[in-house]
Amino acid sequence: MQGLERLIGNTPLLAIEYEMQGRQRTIYAKSEQMNFTGSIKDRMALHILRKAYAAGLIHPGDTIVEATSGNTGISFAAVGRALGHPVTIFMPNWMSRERMDLIHSLGANIVPVTRAQGGFLGSIRMAEEMAAQRDDVFLPRQFSNSANVEAHEQTTGPELYWQLRYEGLTADAFVAGVGTGGTVMGVGRFLKAAHSTTRIYPMEPAESPTLSTGCKVGQHRIQGISDEFVPEILHLTEIEPPVDVCDGDSILMAQKLAGELGLAVGISSGANFLAAVKVQGSLGDDAVVATVFADDNRKYLSTDLLRDEPVKSHYLSAGINLVGLRALSRVCKACTAVRDGAQLGEEVT
Ligand code: PMP
Repeated sequence: MQGLERLIGNTPLLAIEYEMQGRQRTIYAKSEQMNFTGSIKDRMALHILRKAYAAGLIHPGDTIVEATSGNTGISFAAVGRALGHPVTIFMPNWMSRERMDLIHSLGANIVPVTRAQGGFLGSIRMAEEMAAQRDDVFLPRQFSNSANVEAHEQTTGPELYWQLRYEGLTADAFVAGVGTGGTVMGVGRFLKAAHSTTRIYPMEPAESPTLSTGCKVGQHRIQGISDEFVPEILHLTEIEPPVDVCDGDSILMAQKLAGELGLAVGISSGANFLAAVKVQGSLGDDAVVATVFADDNRKYLSTDLLRDEPVKSHYLSAGINLVGLRALSRVCKACTAVRDGAQLGEEVT
């Protein structure tokens, strides 16, 4: 496990400068596409498996079985195979071809689940059924496992906090699209403990506002977020109201980040950037607003991300002029020290 930790987390923080309505602003984004398998979910997969080993909940040779819309499957397949486990992934069959191919290529068994079989909720039910029938199955249960939140509370959050702090900055707000809610809750918990006035915002697709309505409504193209229900680990009462972003606008923004700044990120990263821009619009041009770029664009090459997306009048991306990019240091001894129990505020050199 020691070696895998060097391949996961400790990502650079990007300072993205942009201009909007004649005003210069900056958004900070953790470059999570640089993880082992190209997504933020590696952090959660590694932490859940590490805790399960420590608690004796998983044994060598056990099959890891998870329901996922994609990145989690890729992370558990890679980390699971690296640790010698067979992996079975239940996944809605409308996810991108690349996601399924990647999971296959990592030696995992993939079970596509149709809408008629229950889609995402059906995937979860089928994973539970498989675990009930066998005693050599480990279910990470990313939607209800507090270790998912903890992964971000112990790694993503402290990294972001110290990377900003080395620039003399403190986050006024953090915003992240909700899949399981692990990112927004975990990073949020750390940032709020460090600085109680930091505001934490969940983001959801305008076309499918599950968090605002409490149930599945509509369909959207921001793969990886807003699955069909409000996840158990997401506590909406502890955070700000959801920010909504249009899927077409997110596609255009992700295209812009890649085409103009060379940041080959996925659709949810475009969405997170737009949500951060919206939050900054409400807090002020100088507000320090941070988010994550959850994955890279390679899983979306067969999707609308690579097609011409019509621009609508209410979209934000058309008015955003990307000016420049700085990558802030990722060597973060302080984060490791916090993870290992040092007190917040204690200087670590
Ligand atoms: N973006 C993408 C591309 C994802 O795969 C995920 C995870 N499903 C998220 C965002 C949301 O992360 P979380 O599960 O921590 O809420």
